[in-house]
Amino acid sequence: MLKQIQETHRAKFSDNPAVFSAPGRVNLIGEHTDYAGGFVMPAAINFQTLAAISPRADGQIAIYSKNFDELLTYPLDAIPAKASHRWVDYPLGVLTVLRQQGIEIPAFNLTLDGNVPLGAGLSSSASIEVATMAAMLSLTATKLPLPKIALLSQSAENNYVGASCGIMDQFISCCGEEDHALLLDCRSLEYQMAPIPSDISLVIANTMVKHSHAGGEYNQRRAEVEEGARILATHRPEIKLLRDATMDDLEKWGSTMPEGVLKRSRHVISENLRTVAAAKALEAGDLETLGRLMYEAHASYRDDFEASCREADIMVEFASKEPACIGARLTGGGFGGCTINLVKAAEAKGFTERLKEYYHTATGISAEIYLCRASSGVHQVI
Ligand code: ADP
Ligand code: MG
Repeated sequence: MLKQIQETHRAKFSDNPAVFSAPGRVNLIGEHTDYAGGFVMPAAINFQTLAAISPRADGQIAIYSKNFDELLTYPLDAIPAKASHRWVDYPLGVLTVLRQQGIEIPAFNLTLDGNVPLGAGLSSSASIEVATMAAMLSLTATKLPLPKIALLSQSAENNYVGASCGIMDQFISCCGEEDHALLLDCRSLEYQMAPIPSDISLVIANTMVKHSHAGGEYNQRRAEVEEGARILATHRPEIKLLRDATMDDLEKWGSTMPEGVLKRSRHVISENLRTVAAAKALEAGDLETLGRLMYEAHASYRDDFEASCREADIMVEFASKEPACIGARLTGGGFGGCTINLVKAAEAKGFTERLKEYYHTATGISAEIYLCRASSGVHQVI
């Protein structure tokens, strides 16, 4: 990929670029907890977006995406103020957010190329934002700490692109480490790394399902989670976010909630407990506990959060019967996307083949399955 992007950039713009890489991610556990101020435990994966950049003298910016084979040019002093609901929103959003910080980026040529499957729940969006931001910053004297790059990238996605994601994706794309998962406290942004044993593969299975109403459902779930915190706060005002609430609070006051709000809240509160416990288990090398927590997390996502889908349930059900699989669950925002399966590396290939065949027989769908390992966060490649 590196050679190709260098060649493409030279062919389009006749100059030699600096190249930055930022990974996609898979979340091992902790779903819909980030915007509730809770815990998540993602790992960066060895799929990434590359951003090749070189300065340009004529006050124009040119952005080319190899994935979309489209070149767009803008005068640096006339960047569209609003999103156009196209891929270019992501780099333009990043540029806009940097400017709002008082960081002026000089004119540039930018080439983007990614192998994170787009829209599959592995966060190609965070990887394009973070890679682009690192590339743009390299043209200035400004150095930003990685958590700040994550926050600004999230702001680009929230405020320019218009997607109300939490901080997880951008944070792990910035701070991921090889062979480690990252336990993140989404409120304080404190984090710690937990080693993933080298004989474990991250098998990511794409259901190939993307329910078209997913966007609306995501926002609806989010609203219910926020409603849950509001109701509990009327009883215990120190509850600002569901992160502050306990299962005890739900026992006491859950009956005052609409049923949907109660179920969403129960998922988020219990998921926070599971996520912290899962990090401890990983740290201690207790894979049995980790696996059990993942299956419990899937059941909670399915039954309480009601954000799974039949196809993901079929995959997880199959995985749970495979001795080589330590744990599995639907990962990402829900209603389709990918499952994450922690599988003994020596048996990952056989597991993959069996899962593919089983899934095809059950659904008629050919799943794409990616054998991944935990990888490092954003960095300059050349
Ligand atoms: P996910 O983050 O799960 O992959 P999103 O819908 O959040 O899904 O983001 C996908 C979008 O990000 C793509 O539709 C595209 O607009 C943009 N994107 C990601 N990678 C690239 C790329 N290499 N070139 C151009 N746009 C990209
Ligand atoms: Mg995304």
